[in-house]
Amino acid sequence: MRFSDLDHRLAALGALPVHRGRIARVWLSGQPLDTGTRRRQAKDFLPLSVREALPAVTAALDGLACIRSEHAGSDGARLLVELADGQMVESVLLPRDGLCVSTQVGCAVGCRFCMTGKSGLIRQVSSMEILAQVVLARRQRPVKKVVFMGMGEPAHNLDNVLEAIDLLGTEGNIGHKNLVFSTVGDRRVFEALPRQRVKPALALSLHTAKAGLREHLLPRAARITPEELVELGERYARDSGYPIQYQWTLLKGVNDGDDELDAIVRLLKGRFGVLNVIPFNSLEGDDYQRPEPDRIREIVQSLHGRGVLTKVRNSAGQDVDGGCGQLRARAVVAQQV
Ligand code: SF4
Repeated sequence: MRFSDLDHRLAALGALPVHRGRIARVWLSGQPLDTGTRRRQAKDFLPLSVREALPAVTAALDGLACIRSEHAGSDGARLLVELADGQMVESVLLPRDGLCVSTQVGCAVGCRFCMTGKSGLIRQVSSMEILAQVVLARRQRPVKKVVFMGMGEPAHNLDNVLEAIDLLGTEGNIGHKNLVFSTVGDRRVFEALPRQRVKPALALSLHTAKAGLREHLLPRAARITPEELVELGERYARDSGYPIQYQWTLLKGVNDGDDELDAIVRLLKGRFGVLNVIPFNSLEGDDYQRPEPDRIREIVQSLHGRGVLTKVRNSAGQDVDGGCGQLRARAVVAQQV
């Protein structure tokens, strides 16, 4: 179900835009749909036909997704979320009231360092299922920022992701710059985002400044050179007023060399953006390794010293083996045993 389906259903029952907006706001807040205000109950706001349909609407919304398990970590709790057809995605409760949501079950991009990429694309996550992840998290604690960085490539599920962003930015009480669309880069994204009434901030997964290596690491990403990606990002940053977050998963001996640092300076110095280096979360048997702490410090100091604002980020939940898609992978394996 997409949000527009629910909207049409409510409109057919006689709900006016003001009623539909209220139902969306109450649902997205994590409250029961029949919640009223201090002075008035929900029934005072809604036509009889809509009131009578509320139990069925509530059941449909509650049936979208449920939390299958929760995995605490020092930097954020991971929620394994089960969708109505039994498929599973992950959401991560981030520090400072942030939430990372998934936009696809699996992913077609196939990044070589990513667990989700190994399964390929299984199916799209609908806008309602994306919003349901926010609702489930809000039943636990406040959510003031949503990043679309979980399982999946948002650009490959653009209509659903943009619909979810629009709802969160209009009825979901989240500031537009606190909605972060994360992508490996796709020209359709740069065409679509400037046209939205809710313009999210943008995170671009760069990972290397070498076009050939990027094609190897991100085998089914759109063919855009790092130079073009940064150009497109810069244009959007100037248009939206939000700096681009350039993402760089740091892989020992692959993209942590001095040649890459020189290229980063050439690409990003003077740009309206910040570079997030994310040291790879290596597990036993992985093809890639995390650079030594000294090297990570050296990289950050070198880039800072040469005018590139650089931050080290850790993927949330890594101390519970929770790299992107790993919880889902473990749950699938457990089901098969
Ligand atoms: Fe897909 Fe992101 Fe994983 Fe790449 S890192 S395979 S884009 S989920």
